[in-house]
Amino acid sequence: MEETPNCLDRFVRDFTQLVDDYSGDETEILRQGRKLLADLVSRDDWLPERHAQPHPQYYQQYLLHADPADRFSVVSFVWGPGQKTPIHNHTVWALIGILRGGERAESFEVGSPGLPMRSLGHEDLGPGTVESISPRTGDVHRVSNLYEDRVSISIHVYGGNIGRISRHVFELATSTPKTFISGYSNESEISA
Ligand code: FE
Repeated sequence: MEETPNCLDRFVRDFTQLVDDYSGDETEILRQGRKLLADLVSRDDWLPERHAQPHPQYYQQYLLHADPADRFSVVSFVWGPGQKTPIHNHTVWALIGILRGGERAESFEVGSPGLPMRSLGHEDLGPGTVESISPRTGDVHRVSNLYEDRVSISIHVYGGNIGRISRHVFELATSTPKTFISGYSNESEISA
């Protein structure tokens, strides 16, 4: 990838050190990683324009950094007005920091086969907020732009190369899981 801004460079360097030091210790990675991400999203002057571009129809996921050993990845999520994910899981830990605008995060529990997903409530997150999610405590959720009239951007860190992980989306009415691999919106840049 071409020129990465300094803030992100520093974040990647520090996060790499963190996973070097605490490999396998998810609790400690989330605890310390949360502070690193809070610092990264405390200012909004570093994300390159090309990684902040919304799409008229689809929310965008731009890979900002992939750890060479797939221990973590950093992604910018760019939400057009009113855009949302399907209900999905990650299978790895995640940290979510809001850079611009806001996100609504709704948690779900998978129901018995054929029965609806159970809502566990939602949380609205504003700029500078950092949340963590873990498959250990339940990572089935749906995320949406809090706003119908503007772009929102969040920075996500995952405990693996999230765009390459086989995981699931779930149908709200029946809890039916479907396997998917998300990929990234900037695949051409990654492979270049
Ligand atoms: Fe998610």
